[in-house]
Amino acid sequence: MAYIISDECISCGACAGDCPVEAISEGDTKYVIDADTCIECGACADVCPVGAPSEG
Ligand code: SF4
Ligand code: SF4
Repeated sequence: MAYIISDECISCGACAGDCPVEAISEGDTKYVIDADTCIECGACADVCPVGAPSEG
């Protein structure tokens, strides 16, 4: 399962820069992960200040 970003996201952008496969992009109200691209490495969850990304 790909990681998903919850509504806790404050759109800081930190995770997008750390994703090795560039699966994360800025959405309308929060950052979003492309499920088909995510390789489930967990880097986004490690860097997020609010714990928004989690395994889907
Ligand atoms: Fe990118 Fe890894 Fe987060 Fe998936 S788990 S979105 S590959 S940083
Ligand atoms: Fe949102 Fe966390 Fe990514 Fe920042 S690091 S954009 S708060 S999911």
